[in-house]
Amino acid sequence: MKRKACKKCKIFVEGDECAQCKTSQFALNWKGRITILDHEKSEIAQAIGLSVDGEYAIKVN
Ligand SMILES: [Zn+2]
Repeated sequence: MKRKACKKCKIFVEGDECAQCKTSQFALNWKGRITILDHEKSEIAQAIGLSVDGEYAIKVN
């Protein structure tokens, strides 16, 4: 089963709403994955504006 990612913040979502932005706009069509363990120390997280640790899709359609 393919996982769903939030269209807005690209974090992977398990339930019915995004834990980060509370929307329910999900994408099943995504590419790439990145896991942010410590967003305050991650240059990637800061570069793309992530503020919550977790697993993200790199690109969502
Ligand atoms: Zn979101």
